[in-house]
Amino acid sequence: MSDVLKVLMIEDVATEAELASRELRRGGLQVETVRVETRADFLTQLRAFAPDIILSDFSLPSFDGLSALAIASASYAHIPFIFVSGTIGEDTAIEALKCGAVDYLLKNNLQRLPSAVTRAIDEARGRAAREHAETRFRDLIEYAPHAIVVVNRDGVIEIVNAEAESLFGYARAAMIGASSTILVSAHDAQWHTGLLESNALTSSSVNFEVMGRRRDGSEFPAEVGMSPLHTGERLCISTVIRDISERKAQDDRLARMTRIRTILGSINSVILRVRDKQKLLDEACRIAYEQGEFAGAVVALLEFGNSAVKAVIRPVAWAGMDDAFLRSMDVRDAASNEAGQKIIGTALRNKTSMVSNDIRYDPRLRHWRDALLQRGYRSAFVVPLMVGQQTFGILALFADKPNAFNEEEQRLLAELAADISFSHDFIDKEEQINYLAYFDALTGLPNRALFQDRLSQLTVSEYAAARGTIAVVLIDVERFRRINESFGRATGDDLLRVVARRLRECLPDAGYLARIAADCFAFIVRGTRSETDVVHLLEGPLRTALAESIEIRDKTVRLSVRAGIALFPTDGMDSDSLLRNAEAALKDAKIAKAPYLFYTAEMNARTAEKLSLENRLRQALELQQFVLHYQPKVDLESGQIVGLEALIRWEEPGVGLISPLDFIHVLEDTGMIIDVGIWVIARAHAQYQSWQAQGLRVPRIAVNVSQLQIRQKDFVTRVLHILDASSTTELELEITESLFMDDNDPNVSRGKLAALRESGLTVAIDDFGTGYSSLSYLARLPIDTLKIDRSFITGMTSSHENLAIVSTIISLAHALKLKVVAEGVETVDQRVQLRELGCDQMQGFLFSPGLPPLEMAALLRRQ
Ligand code: C2E
Ligand code: CA
Ligand code: CA
Repeated sequence: MSDVLKVLMIEDVATEAELASRELRRGGLQVETVRVETRADFLTQLRAFAPDIILSDFSLPSFDGLSALAIASASYAHIPFIFVSGTIGEDTAIEALKCGAVDYLLKNNLQRLPSAVTRAIDEARGRAAREHAETRFRDLIEYAPHAIVVVNRDGVIEIVNAEAESLFGYARAAMIGASSTILVSAHDAQWHTGLLESNALTSSSVNFEVMGRRRDGSEFPAEVGMSPLHTGERLCISTVIRDISERKAQDDRLARMTRIRTILGSINSVILRVRDKQKLLDEACRIAYEQGEFAGAVVALLEFGNSAVKAVIRPVAWAGMDDAFLRSMDVRDAASNEAGQKIIGTALRNKTSMVSNDIRYDPRLRHWRDALLQRGYRSAFVVPLMVGQQTFGILALFADKPNAFNEEEQRLLAELAADISFSHDFIDKEEQINYLAYFDALTGLPNRALFQDRLSQLTVSEYAAARGTIAVVLIDVERFRRINESFGRATGDDLLRVVARRLRECLPDAGYLARIAADCFAFIVRGTRSETDVVHLLEGPLRTALAESIEIRDKTVRLSVRAGIALFPTDGMDSDSLLRNAEAALKDAKIAKAPYLFYTAEMNARTAEKLSLENRLRQALELQQFVLHYQPKVDLESGQIVGLEALIRWEEPGVGLISPLDFIHVLEDTGMIIDVGIWVIARAHAQYQSWQAQGLRVPRIAVNVSQLQIRQKDFVTRVLHILDASSTTELELEITESLFMDDNDPNVSRGKLAALRESGLTVAIDDFGTGYSSLSYLARLPIDTLKIDRSFITGMTSSHENLAIVSTIISLAHALKLKVVAEGVETVDQRVQLRELGCDQMQGFLFSPGLPPLEMAALLRRQ
């Protein structure tokens, strides 16, 4: 705001006006005055002169002060109006103040004028700022991406936004004035009230989870952030509420999945140990109940007795179930579907698994409903036990929540039932078939026959056809024969056992690990998205597991292994061809002395290319093949360059300039980004210093930092170490929102950024809008700038929605005192619009692409 105060005087006597001006100047104010005597002049000057304040005489020959006041307060209410008069009486003065004048004083008391004017101006500015802040605040709340409810200390709702209306299903009017307890589950209400009353809330925010309640009574898990809101003298509490049912469900599902995988593992080991059918079934139920955290598990088998047609289904093993219930289950003729045994009957007859996702409303279970509900069971899953095409019983599992069995889980449980069936049948036939026909006695792993059997089950199953690929990996222990010969067989056996154990521990699906030949292990990786998933497993966990030398009988053996990989369905549709092709790939790997090879040449080429890129990148840093280009950020008002962004390029000899889009992800995947990132910061710093030494006015330089870098323990120290030599370098770090989203402990990153800001660095959120940051979250981050992602800017001139997003981001950011930079500005239209929206800076090809240092220096010099 300019320091010169524009004063409009309504005064018929020129010398009186001059007197007032002089008094103002004497009071230390710089003023510019315009004097008017008539209504017409007054109206013109209000617009033309745009005064900061109006001083008015009370009565003039052709105009009067009260009319002037009426005009001013109708259309120019923000301009303070003061009466300066020789004649004003007490009553008139009060009347004037009522009509909106801010003050009055007498001409014989003019020495008070400067302070009266100063106060009036200060008040007017304060009010304008407050009003401005208020609308901003209201918009912020109203258009925030989450439900926001503001309550007072008594828990009475005062403000809600549109999201809150739709989340809770109440109309706004119904919420305002009501107690906030209507929004929480009766279960949590008392605790909620306690929290509101607690004094802890007056100074800090709290985050917690609670069950929210909608108008229709339905409940949902919510994440709530409560912060105190000091509005002048009063304390309110602002709550931001997020429905996290989806995430919760996801978490629950993951936890369940992990549990079921554990059960599968445990049962497999039981199958290896147990030779007694009853024991096997007992153990299976116990494991499901204890490790799988099911509310109950029961295995019931068909007994044919005298009649071969009419069967009885009888529980033979269980866990977490009581006798009375089991007796009720001991039902005749289940297979023919009498006595309402629809679920079990159908499972047996149709040889498919059956699920009841909510026992309460399941007509098929009506005969058992009360018994089941009484015991706390809410959903059930029944899967047939089969040998070949013959059912011989069922496994039933109960959960204490509705919808506990989703598709993925049902698939795993069906697998579990298949395992139980297999070993049940197997024990049956134990007299005839040697157990060792399926298992390797040395390592306890499945042998080739069983591996092939499991592989063919997988490949035919719907799962494999519909979802993802399966990789068959063979691992060959190099020079095993030599070890056997020189150290003896016993050592060789021990070695294989160690290898088996290490493999079992590092594979995600150890159930599919087998030893298929003396020195050859095989395993299956399911649900791979790309061949590189397998490579990462081989190069990561598997390599680590086998890298450590093995101490056996006073000898130290270092292992080296090769792998051959075949993929379903590209390299074969059935287990035979998959295994054959994996063996062919392994043979090739041995000949080529490659650590691993895929069956298809094309796969090999693709992964080879990726690996070669990795190796070349590894050298690039040493050989100084990286360079930084600089792209200017321009102030939208002045058109001046106010910042630079350093963008890395790779100058590979013989290839040319390579874009970061082609290699940054490899640097990230391999962790090389940590060293390269430090190099970038050091280079940008050196560049800044060198430009400054050349006498250039260098704006702040932004560098992109990857989350991986920031997560390093010594990130802050390393950065400060680089800047140590001089404090004149102005750097900015560009980070993405995901840094905080994917973080286990976002406070750590937040702390690091805060520490760096203390040392004069600034922080920008890059590609803003593509991630998912809530408003309340942004406010708590130690950041200075938001960069709106290019995708919004590109779409801005053609899509209203994008325009609305950009405009909202800008006003939110400003309300949070953040600078806004628009990325990827390519057209004049975009620039014009951004400027209108009040965006601070732009970056993009319209002004300049990233330039090599020399060209950038030239550009800076021109400015
Ligand atoms: P970014 O941080 O979003 O950088 C802006 C990218 O947009 C740059 O691509 C820039 O050349 C490009 N760009 C700028 N204005 C325009 C425009 O008007 N139109 C279009 N179409 N594009 C524009 P570049 O240099 O290829 O960099 C790509 C990405 O690579 C960067 O995206 C950044 O995420 C990453 N990157 C670049 N340098 C580094 C670095 O030193 N460290 C890390 N971790 N990442 C970097
Ligand atoms: Ca960037
Ligand atoms: Ca960006």
